[in-house]
Amino acid sequence: MTVKNKVVVITGASSGIGEATAKLLASNGAKVVLGARREEKLNKIVKDIEANGGEAAYQVTDVRDPEEVKSLVQLAKDKFGTLDVIFNNAGIMPTSPISALHTDEWNDMIDINLKGVLNGVAAVMPEFVAQKHGHIITTSSVAGIKSFPGAGVYGATKFAVRNLMEVIRTESAQEGTNIRTSTLYPAAINTELLNTITDKDAKKGMDALYDQVGIAPISIARVVNFAIDQPEEVNVNEFTIYPTKQA
Ligand code: NDP
Repeated sequence: MTVKNKVVVITGASSGIGEATAKLLASNGAKVVLGARREEKLNKIVKDIEANGGEAAYQVTDVRDPEEVKSLVQLAKDKFGTLDVIFNNAGIMPTSPISALHTDEWNDMIDINLKGVLNGVAAVMPEFVAQKHGHIITTSSVAGIKSFPGAGVYGATKFAVRNLMEVIRTESAQEGTNIRTSTLYPAAINTELLNTITDKDAKKGMDALYDQVGIAPISIARVVNFAIDQPEEVNVNEFTIYPTKQA
C-alpha cells in the first residue's frame, strides 16, 4: 500500500505542518480527516483540497478532550470506511525560562503536546490492534532530543512523546500487531507556532532565529508522505529535520 487511498487523521491540521501535510497527502490520493479548534481554517483547507480533486473532511477538535479525538477518528471511519494513519501533530510552544514560572503554560503544554498525543493513540489503538495494521506518526521536536534553555517544559513534553512512540513500536513488534510508528523531530519551521510564545524575551530570540534560518512546513509534509509510502513491513521511525542553515 502507498499513500494513495490511505485514510489519514491529522490533528493540528488548521495551519503550519498539519495543513501542509493534509494538502500534500490529499494531492497524492490519501483521504484526509482534519482536526483542530479553528473551524474557519479547517473549512477553507478542506475546500481547497476538494477544489484540487482531493478527498477530505474536518471536525472541530480539541485534542485535550479524549471524546473529541475519538469522534474525529470515528468520522474518518464513517466517511471513508477505514483508518490507516493518525498524525498526532497538534501542539503549542510557549517557551520561557523555568524561573519565570509560567505554570499555566506548563500545564497547557502537558495537556496538548503530551496528553493530546495520548488521546490520539487511545482513539486509534483498538482499531489498529484489531486490524493488525496502522501507523501512528507524531510530531516531537529537536527539543525532544536535545535540551534548550527556554524549552524546559516544551522539551519535556516532546521527550515524553519520543519515549511513548518508541515503546509503542517495540510493544507492537512483540505483540505482532504490525503498528508502525514514526516520530518527527523538526527544528525551525516557519509556521504560526511562535505566536504561542507570551514571554517577550523568548519570543524575540525565537523570531530572530526563525527569520534567519526557518524553512517551509512542506519540508515536514514530504517526510510524512515518505514514511506512509513505505511498504507495510518497513517502519521508518525517526526523522530529524533541520534547516540547512541552522546550527
Ligand atoms: P502551528 O501553530 O501552525 O500549528 C499548530 C496546530 O496545532 C494548529 O493547527 C493548531 O490549531 C493546533 N492546536 C493547538 N492546540 C490545539 C488543541 N488544543 N487542540 C487541537 N489542535 C490544537 O505550528 P506548527 O505547524 O509548527 O506545529 C505543529 C507541530 O509541530 C507542533 O506539535 C509543534 O510543537 C511541532 N514543531 C514545530 C516546530 C516549528 O519550528 N514550527 C519545530 C518542532 C516541532 P488550532 O489553534 O486551530 O486548534
